[in-house]
Amino acid sequence: MSAGTIFDINEFAIYDGPGIRQTVFLKGCPLRCSWCHNPEGQNPSPELMINKASCISCGHCKKVCNNESCIACGKCVSYCPLNLRKICGELLTAKELAEYIRDKSDYYANYGGGVTFTGGEPLMQPQFLAETLSLLPDIHTAIETSGYADNKIFNSIIQLIDYVIMDIKLVDSSLHLKYTGAENKIILENLASLCSSNKKFVVRIPVIPGVNDNKTEYSAVAELVKDAPLLERVELLPYHKTAGAKYEMINRKYTPMFDVNRPVFIDQEVFSQYGIRSVVL
Ligand code: SF4
Ligand code: SF4
Repeated sequence: MSAGTIFDINEFAIYDGPGIRQTVFLKGCPLRCSWCHNPEGQNPSPELMINKASCISCGHCKKVCNNESCIACGKCVSYCPLNLRKICGELLTAKELAEYIRDKSDYYANYGGGVTFTGGEPLMQPQFLAETLSLLPDIHTAIETSGYADNKIFNSIIQLIDYVIMDIKLVDSSLHLKYTGAENKIILENLASLCSSNKKFVVRIPVIPGVNDNKTEYSAVAELVKDAPLLERVELLPYHKTAGAKYEMINRKYTPMFDVNRPVFIDQEVFSQYGIRSVVL
């Protein structure tokens, strides 16, 4: 039985696939998007998160730590009188995660939902994900993925899933590299596989001011998916200024490479011209 690392489970999600759903966040992501609002999902290993803004500098946490740099052992967590420290990332077996999901699955099924695996990038833990899915044959499953994964992994996991939410951040390859730290060739190949697969899917665009909120990028996405018979819609997710809130908690600085104060340009007309339904989340 394989094990994996998750960093959160959300209940009652309404934007992560059909119906009302449970959303499981798998830790680890190969991309470094300049707008990432879940930076604690990037590192595949567990890490310490501290709510520094509320710290009263009592020093209790320091007294119990013998390490020069943090190894995420968790020893200090229970010593904070204000509960400001937590270890982000928990190792679970596929069986443990499947049991947790199954415990509430009847409720979600009653509302047309199920479970969605997101991250981080869930395809970074393919064996754990595949094994968990194999234990949930009667539950509606979805994945939210950046598509940045080996083609074989992408295609094999997609076959085990009922519904796919695929993020497309930028079609322009050099801009993709600039803003996410990786080229998008493999993502576009996986998108092409998805378009010709037998899976219902949506394309989700994180709309980032001055980065991808222009007609050229919107049209390029529409061109790529216009003939996909099982595309349900394109979802436009406007950037939110609170995206940087968690960086300080994991001892990182938020340094977006774009103007966070610039309003985003939304253009649904581009998609209508291609006969593609679009929604703004
Ligand atoms: S989790 Fe706390 S006790 Fe453990 S190494 Fe990090 S700071 Fe020290
Ligand atoms: S124990 Fe909590 S309140 Fe005290 S210094 Fe550490 S983080 Fe701050």
